[in-house]
Amino acid sequence: MQGLMMDMPLLISSILRHAARHHGDTEIVSRRLEGDIHRYTYVDCEQRARTLADALEQAGVKHGDRVATLAWNGYRHMEIYYAVGGMGGVIHTINPRLHPDQIAWIVNHAEDTHLAFDITFLPIIEAIAARCPKVRSWIAMVDEDRHPVSAAIPNLVNYEQLLRSGRSNWRWPEFEERAAVALCYTSGTTGNPKGALYSHRSTVLHAYGAALPDAMGGSARDVILPVVPMFHVNAWGIPYMAPLVGAKLVFPGSQLDGASIFELFESEGVTFSAGVPTVWLGLLAHVRQQGARFSTLQRTVIGGSACPPAMIRAFRDDYGVDVIHAWGMTEMSPLGTLSRLQNRHLQLDDAAQQKVLEKQGHVIYGVDMKIVGDDGADLPWDGKTYGNLLVRGPWIIQAYFKSEGGDPLQYDADGAGWFPTGDVATIDEQGYMQITDRSKDVIKSGGEWISSIDLENLAIAHPAVANAAVIGIAHPKWDERPLLIVVKKPGVEVTREDLLRFYEGKIAKWWLPDDVQFVDAIPLGATGKILKTRLREQFRDYRLPGL
Ligand code: ADP
Repeated sequence: MQGLMMDMPLLISSILRHAARHHGDTEIVSRRLEGDIHRYTYVDCEQRARTLADALEQAGVKHGDRVATLAWNGYRHMEIYYAVGGMGGVIHTINPRLHPDQIAWIVNHAEDTHLAFDITFLPIIEAIAARCPKVRSWIAMVDEDRHPVSAAIPNLVNYEQLLRSGRSNWRWPEFEERAAVALCYTSGTTGNPKGALYSHRSTVLHAYGAALPDAMGGSARDVILPVVPMFHVNAWGIPYMAPLVGAKLVFPGSQLDGASIFELFESEGVTFSAGVPTVWLGLLAHVRQQGARFSTLQRTVIGGSACPPAMIRAFRDDYGVDVIHAWGMTEMSPLGTLSRLQNRHLQLDDAAQQKVLEKQGHVIYGVDMKIVGDDGADLPWDGKTYGNLLVRGPWIIQAYFKSEGGDPLQYDADGAGWFPTGDVATIDEQGYMQITDRSKDVIKSGGEWISSIDLENLAIAHPAVANAAVIGIAHPKWDERPLLIVVKKPGVEVTREDLLRFYEGKIAKWWLPDDVQFVDAIPLGATGKILKTRLREQFRDYRLPGL
């Protein structure tokens, strides 16, 4: 027997339509590349997104066509998200921090038919246009009077001019909810990037999941500023979650330094933000230096790489801001687990609560997880045993776009398909997961594993350390031994011995790094994470002391 409820497909256009109808005067505020602050409402955004959808349709964009963006967080990027997805196309967000060769490769692999870009990225477009023959137009997302002139780019179109060719009475079409809506490539630190292709259904379900109180907990009382870029796994779903709950949105554009972000937090009354740890290092440094306080900020999601406990403490103790430590990945839309306290934790003392909050957290409905050994057998949830972390759920990838790699899933004895995350983790009795390491970063010493993340977190807590990374160095007896690589804070003196002594009593003796190397900077990847592959290359000829 079938249920007798309305058969309404879960389409992303319904989210923006909802925001326009029921939170119509709620604002979207953007710091523009043009230099000013732009503000309009969900009504305006929905109207322009619909008009743009019609314009793109007239320009030949068809169901399933990929339209790419190379853009910062801003209102035009939001309009493209909804125009392209809402009309049945696929929005393909590209990370502009990748090398132009890699960007050209991705554009061609995705077979993008159009590409919209912020003019900051004009030099990249000039470098790749000739190599991307399938792109029919390059759309400059800028006011008409600032439209660039470039002989190197044929079919250069102005966004506002294109928008004028659309009709404002165009209506969102209805189609199948399993249709593709968005495409994101992983950053490809190992080999060519791979595409995760989200559906309308998976995106809407993920937005609901993200809004849950024990996830990001979005509401119509929130003012949300995603520092995480809209090209980094759809800004972790915030462009869908915010209109779903009717929250005000604040987009920071290209200015992601601590001072600029702080200014927007204060001027717009931001209550909630999200970003990778490196961003918050800059923000905290600025706030400390100015002796400033956050007047409205209540909580921030930090994820993408392990959030150092010292950062959670600083936000909580010094500024009264809750850090929600989150874990996920491109293949998971991206949310998997978030660390928030439960009833059972409320009676615990501060230090014990902090221990819970340091973990990568608990799943939300929509994600199931388990840890298995190399033989695929389930491992216990005791908070100590670590194993390969597997996940499944309706917003988790089943196959990569044009999947040359074949089926990535791992099937268990019951025939259920699980996605192997490539992470090594523990899960405790209460279902809180803690990442030990990425399996390729874990240091294998004498048949046992050392977590590079744990060693980095401890080093970062030292007052003289600005940033730290730990990699495994080949060792004839132990296989690998840890090397600590450190960037010192300016003007502070600290020695190798000071840092090694700092670990005493905090870790097992055999975890102690064999050496410390000081560097000016640690290489960061396109999404602000430490590039361990680059570090390993940099230290390829390095020999541990005594060898
Ligand atoms: P990329 O592989 O391009 O870096 P993702 O942004 O999808 O792409 O990265 C996902 C990976 O980032 C996870 O598999 C995990 O290794 C790491 N990660 C994400 N969040 C956390 C976290 N809170 N703690 C530790 N590692 C994390």
